[in-house]
Amino acid sequence: MLTKAPRGTKDITPSESYKWNYLESKFKNLCSLYGYEEIRTPIFENTELFQRGVGDTTDIVQKEMYSFKDKGDRSITLKPEGTAGVVRAFIENKMYADAQPTKLFYITPCFRYERPQSGRQRQFHQFGIEAIGSDTPSLDAEVIELATQFLGEVGLKDLSVSINSVGCPVCRESYNEKLKKYLASKEDVLCDLCNERREKNPMRVIDCKNETCQANIQDIPLIADNLCEDCQNHFDTLKSYLDEMNIKYEVDKKIVRGLDYYKRTAFEIISNDLGSQSTVCGGGRYDGLVEQIGGPEGFSGIGFGLGVERLLLTLAANNIEIAKPDSTDIFIVTIGDTAKLKAFNILKALRSNHISADKDHLDRSVKAQFKYSNKVDAKYTIVIGDDELEKDEATLKNMNTGEQRLIKLSELVEELKKEL
Ligand code: ATP
Ligand code: MG
Repeated sequence: MLTKAPRGTKDITPSESYKWNYLESKFKNLCSLYGYEEIRTPIFENTELFQRGVGDTTDIVQKEMYSFKDKGDRSITLKPEGTAGVVRAFIENKMYADAQPTKLFYITPCFRYERPQSGRQRQFHQFGIEAIGSDTPSLDAEVIELATQFLGEVGLKDLSVSINSVGCPVCRESYNEKLKKYLASKEDVLCDLCNERREKNPMRVIDCKNETCQANIQDIPLIADNLCEDCQNHFDTLKSYLDEMNIKYEVDKKIVRGLDYYKRTAFEIISNDLGSQSTVCGGGRYDGLVEQIGGPEGFSGIGFGLGVERLLLTLAANNIEIAKPDSTDIFIVTIGDTAKLKAFNILKALRSNHISADKDHLDRSVKAQFKYSNKVDAKYTIVIGDDELEKDEATLKNMNTGEQRLIKLSELVEELKKEL
């Protein structure tokens, strides 16, 4: 037990962390090009925020939350997604008082109590953006475009963008009645959970993962066929913007997304290489969420959450490699105690000049030091002993070409700067 991480969690060791660093910096740079600034919210929030924000008839809230009582008897939940916390912070920090829209991005761990499998963990990570403060479809288009641009830049070509409109309270009123009637006729074949949700939040049934439910609701009425005029216009305008940017998409009327706060645009980006857990990115518009959790009226938003573990799996499935960061520039092999001491001085000079440098820390023999320098893939090695120190001369060896040359020790930094 002591040597096993909790079920559904994973260590990200140096054999992988460089990939994370690469993706994170790519994402940050791209967000900054589009005018999105970073927000960092707490890992945990009051449970009520997610019950209200994400919705208490959703899978996330009903089945997947990591909730516990703290020592003050408060119900706390580890965040299952990023949007609710960001919107809470938007309100609490009065960002609504600034010029709108407020464009934010985040990189965060998320926690969901799910059955672990490939691409499905209990602690996973999301990149996300939120654009709050405007309900025009131009932000929807920007958010979808940013996601596809990011995935394209990291090398994914085989992606499908699916969009839908899940309507608004106006069109949902009559639609929900229609839906409830339809679902009542399916009572006998629906799972218990669907039967429970059918009255409270009938659209949730469309998202049920139970195969029997799915097989029996093939002809279910869909919201996209029942939009009010405003929602239809919003959707049509979004499509025209995506067309203008040459983004290929398909309308998938069955996307309802697993979060209750979505209104109008909902979208998913799917990699075609990854089997059942293929959704890399999901997002949508959440007009009403700000108000729902106690903020001022009239601030709608749109955003996405992109699963980093799934992105890495997708990249691997597509044989897209992320370059390893550069190895150590120079390894200093030391002979004798004086050299061991002076090596610190040399290391300091090299590192202050942004040349990555290392030495032995295990009192290895010269032969073993060379072996180690090979193992860390050092580009250069230099051997320093009493003689070298006295003469201010040492042999610099290029480990790739095997080429060696005598240089002045005091000029090591300058020499390397020229070569690297
Ligand atoms: P799914 O249908 O696969 O359960 P979801 O609808 O629950 O996905 P969202 O809530 O939209 O997913 O989260 C956004 C993204 O986060 C997903 O597209 C996916 O890439 C990733 N994700 C969601 N849950 C997990 C998980 N348990 N482990 C790893 N990644 C996840
Ligand atoms: Mg899920």
